[in-house]
Amino acid sequence: MARTRLVAGNWKMYGSRAANRALLEAILKGLPKDGVQCVVCPPFPYLAEVAEQLRGTPTTCGAQNVSEHAQGAYTGEVSAAMLKELGCRYVIVGHSERRQIFGETHAQVAAKFAAARGAGLTPILCVGETLAEREAGCTEEVLARQLGAVKFSDAVLAYEPVWAIGTGKNATPEQAQAVHAFLRKKVPQDTAIVYGGSVKAQNAAAIFAMPDVDGGLIGGASLVADDFLAIARAAAAKGR
Ligand code: PEP
Repeated sequence: MARTRLVAGNWKMYGSRAANRALLEAILKGLPKDGVQCVVCPPFPYLAEVAEQLRGTPTTCGAQNVSEHAQGAYTGEVSAAMLKELGCRYVIVGHSERRQIFGETHAQVAAKFAAARGAGLTPILCVGETLAEREAGCTEEVLARQLGAVKFSDAVLAYEPVWAIGTGKNATPEQAQAVHAFLRKKVPQDTAIVYGGSVKAQNAAAIFAMPDVDGGLIGGASLVADDFLAIARAAAAKGR
């Protein structure tokens, strides 16, 4: 079975109602008709409005985080069922910013992943090594630990080297391919494995051309319609 090709935009904590509307309008006008599944992941407060704007289009909505708890006295948290009710299909789990800034542990990431799956959401599980870990030759060990903590099934896997996120220093296509090939052996064969870390309009085609790279998780460039569109087109064009 052909693997899904996917490009997801992680808007992080950027946007406003007006800016989101304008960005989405521009994106929806230019997206390729087929060949790639596009997802946008706005901040929580905008999810309902974005999902509404996407209704009837092939582009879908995702969240950037989810609580590991189903409900209860967890001030500030948002459950998987709530995300589902708002129209989300995907949720990013284990982003390195959550692991590093908010101290998310392997156990929490695993619980969030399970909560998302339990509610019928597709997790986009992020794994990635720091520069120090890469330089120490521990990349595979780190990734195996991050992935092994999760009962992985029916999800998208995102390889996001921490040193490439928001730095403008992307992994080379060959570096990405080597890691994706390693990860591919550890997940069901139909799993989409996407690359994230300074993907731009200029480098997307070369990275996506690698045999085990099925698209991208895009941060900064997903906030600029022309850049996101160019990246989505690069993914759709793969193999044509
Ligand atoms: C990300 O935040 O997941 C990401 C890949 O960011 P950027 O594209 O800005 O490096």
